[in-house]
Amino acid sequence: MDRFVPSFCGGKLAYACLSMTDEAGGADSENPLLAGAGIKTTAKLDGDEYVINGNKSWPTHGGIAECYLTVCTTDPNAGDEGVALIYVPKDTPGLTFGKPEKKMLFKTSINSPVHYDNVRVPREYRLAGPGMDAHFYHFIAAGTGWHSATMALGIAERAFEIVLDYTGTRQGGFKPVRQHSIVAGIIADMAIGINMMKASIYNLSYMLDHLDVYGPPWSPEFISRATTTRVFAGDTAVEIINKGAELLGSMAISEDFPYEKCLRDAKITQLWLGGQQISRYRVARGYYDLKNWA
Ligand SMILES: Cc1cc2nc3c(=O)[nH]c(=O)nc-3n(C[C@H](O)[C@H](O)[C@H](O)COP(=O)(O)OP(=O)(O)OC[C@H]3O[C@@H](n4cnc5c(N)ncnc54)[C@H](O)[C@@H]3O)c2cc1C
Repeated sequence: MDRFVPSFCGGKLAYACLSMTDEAGGADSENPLLAGAGIKTTAKLDGDEYVINGNKSWPTHGGIAECYLTVCTTDPNAGDEGVALIYVPKDTPGLTFGKPEKKMLFKTSINSPVHYDNVRVPREYRLAGPGMDAHFYHFIAAGTGWHSATMALGIAERAFEIVLDYTGTRQGGFKPVRQHSIVAGIIADMAIGINMMKASIYNLSYMLDHLDVYGPPWSPEFISRATTTRVFAGDTAVEIINKGAELLGSMAISEDFPYEKCLRDAKITQLWLGGQQISRYRVARGYYDLKNWA
């Protein structure tokens, strides 16, 4: 705490980074069914220090963050006990960064590879220790599910506002476009999707606020519920924003019109955190003992 918290409490803007996705595949490192066996970045205890080796791809704030919470394995065969979350300060020898990825969306977010070459940090930089680190890692899956869903909702709401506004003034068949019943049906489907996303997010928010009733947040049941919201929100946002684009004609893709940003931005909510397939495993695992097939 004393080592890291002060950097984030001063007048200077400081970033942190969750360095999780291994270069060899985010789906494996973020798949809870593999219980740490898919994590490729290693941490070996040498005296009072952890020695970290590996390569991460795409972490947000890679290269600009002051501190990297790094997802490692101390032993890929030890199950959750082998999962280690270790803080690595930016200036640690052996820690280097690649070029920021060029991407079609979220252009203001910096995503750069993070390389660990015999990076040594004191053993007390480990977050909590064997077992608890895995709990926190699974909790990250739940918390970021909420975050991804709220992002999907915000993008979909902006898309809806644009569609409603444009179709209210644009004329077709001698009346505003939205007065045609075939168009009204699509607008209604957008509204239904947005309201269902909201309901699911509010419900999950209530659960997160009442962990005494619904916790712990790393249980398979809680993670399943949180991931349900994330998967549903991502899929719904992409579907309704794509459909809404049809009501704007070619303006949907014009760079001089705000809708194309919604079309681009929504997609990430289906791609990160292991993607929608791994996420569906998390959902299923809340209902039965879904086996690890590694
Ligand atoms: C804008 C942005 C921000 C990001 N922020 C961060 C961050 O802050 N920190 C971080 O660590 N990472 C971050 N990432 C990385 C992101 O989390 C990963 O890219 C994502 O988890 C997918 O990993 P991958 O690209 O390596 O896909 P891969 O692992 O190569 O998987 C590709 C696809 O293969 C399929 N697949 C793989 N394994 C299986 C399986 N067992 N069963 C079924 N299907 C499977 C899935 O459909 C999967 O989507 C970010 C990415 C972006 C684009």
